[in-house]
Amino acid sequence: MSTSTANPLLDFSGLPRFDLIAPQHVEPAIRALLDSARQTLDALAGADTPATWDDFVIPMTEATEHLGRAWGVVGHMHSVMDTPDWRAAYNALLPEISSFWADFGQNLALFDKYRQLHDGPEYATLSAVRQRIIDHELRDFRLSGAELPDADKPRFKAIQEELSSLAAGFSEHLLDATNAFAEWIDDAAELAGLPDDVIAAARAAAEKDGKPGWKFTLHMPSYLPVLQYADSARLREALYRANATRASELGKPEWDNGPLMGRILTLRHEEAQLLGYASFAEVSLVPKMAESPAQVMAFLRDLATRARPYAERDLAELRAFAADELGLPEMQPWDVAYASEKLRQARYAFSENEVRQYFPEPRVLDGLFGVIESLYGVRLTHDQAPVWDPAVRVLRIERDGQLIGQLYLDLHARNTKRGGAWMDSARSRQRSRAGLLTPVAYVVCNFSPPVGNKPSTLSHDDVTTLFHEFGHALHHLLTEVDEVAVSGIHGVEWDAVELPSQFMENFCWEWDVISGMSAHVDTGAALPRALFDKMQAARHFQSGMQMLRQIEFSLFDLRLHHELPADAPVPAADVLALLDAVRREVAVLIPPPWHRFPHSFSHIFAGGYCAGYYSYKWAEVLSADAFAAFEEAGAGRGSLLDRDTGARFWREVLAVGGSRPALDSFIAFRGRAPQVDALLRHSGMLEAT
Ligand SMILES: [Zn+2]
Repeated sequence: MSTSTANPLLDFSGLPRFDLIAPQHVEPAIRALLDSARQTLDALAGADTPATWDDFVIPMTEATEHLGRAWGVVGHMHSVMDTPDWRAAYNALLPEISSFWADFGQNLALFDKYRQLHDGPEYATLSAVRQRIIDHELRDFRLSGAELPDADKPRFKAIQEELSSLAAGFSEHLLDATNAFAEWIDDAAELAGLPDDVIAAARAAAEKDGKPGWKFTLHMPSYLPVLQYADSARLREALYRANATRASELGKPEWDNGPLMGRILTLRHEEAQLLGYASFAEVSLVPKMAESPAQVMAFLRDLATRARPYAERDLAELRAFAADELGLPEMQPWDVAYASEKLRQARYAFSENEVRQYFPEPRVLDGLFGVIESLYGVRLTHDQAPVWDPAVRVLRIERDGQLIGQLYLDLHARNTKRGGAWMDSARSRQRSRAGLLTPVAYVVCNFSPPVGNKPSTLSHDDVTTLFHEFGHALHHLLTEVDEVAVSGIHGVEWDAVELPSQFMENFCWEWDVISGMSAHVDTGAALPRALFDKMQAARHFQSGMQMLRQIEFSLFDLRLHHELPADAPVPAADVLALLDAVRREVAVLIPPPWHRFPHSFSHIFAGGYCAGYYSYKWAEVLSADAFAAFEEAGAGRGSLLDRDTGARFWREVLAVGGSRPALDSFIAFRGRAPQVDALLRHSGMLEAT
């Protein structure tokens, strides 16, 4: 046996060998795969390799697929089994992996092969799916500057490097400014209204600094409860002001993000011009479902117009409540969250803990599987495979006795697991020279583990999270595409990728579905209807104001990257003036003039959401409208879980994944372009028809 076959990370014959894979396997396996991938790519880039699908694309896909799959296992272990050994093994190879992919994106010989294939006679004979893969490769090479004249390339590269260091600087300033602030409380009377655990945490924070009293900070677990619960307006105002002016010219000059914002906008604009686009917003939209900045702005403005009356009603209700019940006739910015929380409690309060008793995990899983089986005519059963923790379960999905895909389910929080919930690909469907490989997915959550012999119980939020991640998993597992580059979740436009996941969340708000999957952990009783109605009412609380807020951020982000003249560094004052203009257009609640929201808008200045923040609302519209097709079928045929509509959703949306444009898939399913009505109705902003 050679050393390579003895390394379980290099065993691609079946599911990953989680019973054998250990941190010491990472370096030799990943190095071997990197070496072999580099050799293959070098050979493929050479003049001897004809630019054909079989001679070029297939070997390249195979060379990178094994590397991607093995590194996926390593990344997964790093997320769910973050021991010092796994962390070290992951971090040791991460730079080499990143640089491999960066080199790949810059490899002009490979770009040239794709171009030859695109321009040659074979292209017309290829399937639409294969043509799309080639088009995407060319697009990605172009957007990373591969087609620029040689004279422009160094400048393009310098822009990229400066942008990434500016993004890091933006985050660091924000973190430093956040960390530097503390509000010290000596008088226990100022703690009135705060929950006990928040007070205890503030006391522990002070103790850690060797001081008496209580310490409050701008970190969310401290900041949010103060704004929501503290009866002391002075305390709320102190934190609100500090938070609103973080990393701006109103604080320490060395943490002022204003100049960085201006420089980032200028560089993004220059990058767009080098690539031949009028604005950075146009560049951002090239690989997305949305077609143009004008289309996105029209979408946002339409949604704003329709949500506005509801937001105005929300605000009037809040103002009246603050004046009449809280003695706050002039509601200040630091009163908004406080008054909202009091109003929510007065109108819609219910106990999260009471709800949780109705959702024991096994019952919820049965309910979820039932929904999936009814919709798609598949069967989910338990399967056997090596796992990384005894609590992990393996499921298989079959149709007519035939295996479609498999799924790892890792639901409970552990000390070694990263927080949050996510779905990831363990293997993607592909038809290769070795035959057909079925897809495999990970679904990872952080629910409370069971205690004693009682099953763990889920909050309604947990149930929704589980449905959401299963939506992503089904997108990956029910694919019928054989080309790995666009099978499952691969190649799906970024602003459409949340369609299948948010779609599944809707079932958690359907009485028939939710009552059927609830059973009180002690009595077995179903969730009472009255309690469910309260949950629905709470779901819609201030939905108009919330929607306008998201639209404000989205429109600001898009106009910032589309309209501001950025040939010279953009002054922070211009950024603020644009935000003011957006607020005058869409907001009902205008923050004070000293508020410096852009200076902490990391999503767009330090994250991947630049000219993309609209995606949240965009995908919500798609998912709500897709779900409405099931509501319509249910109204006619008696059940939301309509098999015909499910079959159509599978065929036109889930099965095709990234193999065709998301808009085409949506229209094929719905028979028309997306409409916003269903989202408004689900948010309590449109009467049901
Ligand atoms: Zn998601």
